[in-house]
Amino acid sequence: MAFIIAIDGPAASGKGTIGRALAADLGFHHLDTGLLYRATGVKGGDPVAAARGLVAADLARDDLRSAEAGQAASRVAAIPEVRAALIDFQRRFAMREPGAVLDGRDIGTVICPQADLKLYVVASDQVRAMRRASELGADPAEMLAQLQERDRRDSQRASAPLRPADDAVVLDTTDLTIEQAVAAALSAVGRRRAT
Ligand code: C5P
Repeated sequence: MAFIIAIDGPAASGKGTIGRALAADLGFHHLDTGLLYRATGVKGGDPVAAARGLVAADLARDDLRSAEAGQAASRVAAIPEVRAALIDFQRRFAMREPGAVLDGRDIGTVICPQADLKLYVVASDQVRAMRRASELGADPAEMLAQLQERDRRDSQRASAPLRPADDAVVLDTTDLTIEQAVAAALSAVGRRRAT
């Protein structure tokens, strides 16, 4: 049976970086599920039709990482039919052998409640804004406002809101380097695999 690692948390908490590093270290597949919502958001037109019709080329667009795409993603992500259209793809991905790492907002709570390990990655608002600002070459104060707006929308929506699963291991990356955060995540994997 495939080993499934679910990583959730707010925007720019470090979950994508940790997810990629875990997958590379363990030889697992990695899916950044935010890309599905970003691709749906930037496609335009009816978001439900956009989500149902996503193809590989939509996920390869080079504008998906922008702040605008993030905002568009969080608006379409509140629509239950959009979320429903993306469930099967994510669950099939999670079954890939020898294992898969999925990062997003609802992986441990909705997509893979049976995941072998659930991490909930957090960091202070200021640190998240600084990280995203240096990634995108943007103004930290503007990034802070945008992240807070997105977190509010993601946490308050009725459908699959952002929250830690009851059995998630919380990892606070505020004061950690990338190497330290990845080491902490790997040791959580090691503990879970030993049980
Ligand atoms: O993780 P990322 O910042 O790329 O996600 C963009 C947006 O997509 C989030 O703000 C959230 O609204 C939505 N999302 C979601 N569920 C996921 C992944 C992302 O609702 N599993």
